[in-house]
Amino acid sequence: MEERESLKKIVSHSKEYGFVIPSSEIYEGLNAVYDYAHNGVLLKNNIRDYWWKSMVQINQNIIGVDSAIFMHPKTWIASGHVEAFNDPLIDNKDSKKRYRADVLLENYIEKQKNKIDKEVLKAKKRYGDKFDENEFINTNQRVQELNTRIKSTNKRMVDGFKKNNLKEIENLINELEIKCPVSGTSNWTEVRQFNLMFKTNLGASSDSNMELFLRPETAQGIFLNYLTLQKTSRMKIPFGIAQTGKAFRNEIVARQFIFRMREFEQMEMQFFIKPGTQEQWYKEWKDKRMKWHLSLGFEEKKYRFHDHEKLSHYADAASDIEFNFPFGFKELEGIHSRTDFDLKSHEKLSGKKIQYFDTDKNESYTPYVIETSIGLDRMFLSVLSNAYFNETLEDGSSRVVLKIPKQIAPIKLAVLPLLKKDGLLEIAKELINEFSSEVNLSYDEKDAIGRRYRRQDAIGTPYCVTIDHQTLEDNTFTLRDRDSMEQKRINNKDLKNIIEKELTLNSLLNNLK
Ligand code: ATP
Repeated sequence: MEERESLKKIVSHSKEYGFVIPSSEIYEGLNAVYDYAHNGVLLKNNIRDYWWKSMVQINQNIIGVDSAIFMHPKTWIASGHVEAFNDPLIDNKDSKKRYRADVLLENYIEKQKNKIDKEVLKAKKRYGDKFDENEFINTNQRVQELNTRIKSTNKRMVDGFKKNNLKEIENLINELEIKCPVSGTSNWTEVRQFNLMFKTNLGASSDSNMELFLRPETAQGIFLNYLTLQKTSRMKIPFGIAQTGKAFRNEIVARQFIFRMREFEQMEMQFFIKPGTQEQWYKEWKDKRMKWHLSLGFEEKKYRFHDHEKLSHYADAASDIEFNFPFGFKELEGIHSRTDFDLKSHEKLSGKKIQYFDTDKNESYTPYVIETSIGLDRMFLSVLSNAYFNETLEDGSSRVVLKIPKQIAPIKLAVLPLLKKDGLLEIAKELINEFSSEVNLSYDEKDAIGRRYRRQDAIGTPYCVTIDHQTLEDNTFTLRDRDSMEQKRINNKDLKNIIEKELTLNSLLNNLK
């Protein structure tokens, strides 16, 4: 309940302060489609920029591409999406609500894991310092029962999906007596496969008409172009290609705000390697991506790896970086060892040779691929949920503050003239003129200064600069810190320094090197 409350607060805060708004709202909105308002666009651009620079700018062997959303329909036959990009759906006959069968089972397993955690916590309290957690887990009867239940459920689920045995998945849901959270009953339909790709048509006349799919991932635009990009950029293996852009999926269950949308943005990087080296590169990219997340300075315990047992049709290993969203740990990013599946399939279907030629060894081969794939909107939600605080202050009042990492905050500085007279406005405008080409600034002259600070806290502005009468005398102004709320006097030169050192992406990027 508390978790749902906190997501609700983030959703309404996002709307009230111009981050994320429902799409087509005057027509009652469109399910799972959202628009980004001014502060949202700025934050999203900054996150994308940080990702892009951490891939393409600081790595000399990663290049970029921006491929079209429309692609030849054969792309999706070769990639396996026409055949296998399905989600298993199941309906509850009483509530008429639709669910993903795999998600129902994964939630069930998660619940059993939570029960184990509770048992451990209880025993810890009971035994105090003498408590040996490993021994307890290995010997306690209840924990062993729960572990056996988790293992057998997982095995039956993985086998069922591997063999596309949907009857077995249905039986499992029924045997475990999994209930619909809305109706509370286990009155389920059978499990069916549902393809997630959106269809559209290219061309106006019926005979030249071609049925297309809106791309469900940006990766295929990289695969189709990889050889041309490699040659034109004179890359040698190992090298990567990065792309950010829209992807579309007709999700069965699209709830939880911008976590699961039908139109969303991905940031993907495909790293092309020599076959046989995939284990080493897979590990390296897992480490690098976790480091990227932790570089933003949020609590380490909010992130964890989840190694997959149920692998997609193209992968020989896969892991998710999960984030503790207000509704629990869920996938934020996927790291996949995609083998040579995609390149080989495109080669076969197109009849074109797309092998890499190794000039040192004088031989051709099809590279293997490690992929890192993150949803920009999910990343945005993770930043917002990490940053949102409702604080009670010493004087008993409260404030909502977004402690967004300073380098990616939508507005970096707010310039606030204390009064509208005595030339303070002119100084404020001059200051904006001086710094607006370096960072996003905002200007606010309305209301008492305390209220103006609160407004900036609510959108996560790291610093406010207040112009007052002392500015007229000695050219200094007050710098107020969002997190500590401390204030100090500084001059133009100090401000320039703060911008360079704290408010640009440089410090974040330097830490990744
Ligand atoms: P899920 O299991 O949550 O459906 P997935 O395993 O299908 O995700 P991938 O195909 O690995 O996801 O896509 C890579 C990334 O794209 C995900 O880690 C996620 O951040 C993002 N993503 C996928 N689907 C959506 C969506 N419907 N809305 C927003 N972001 C998404």
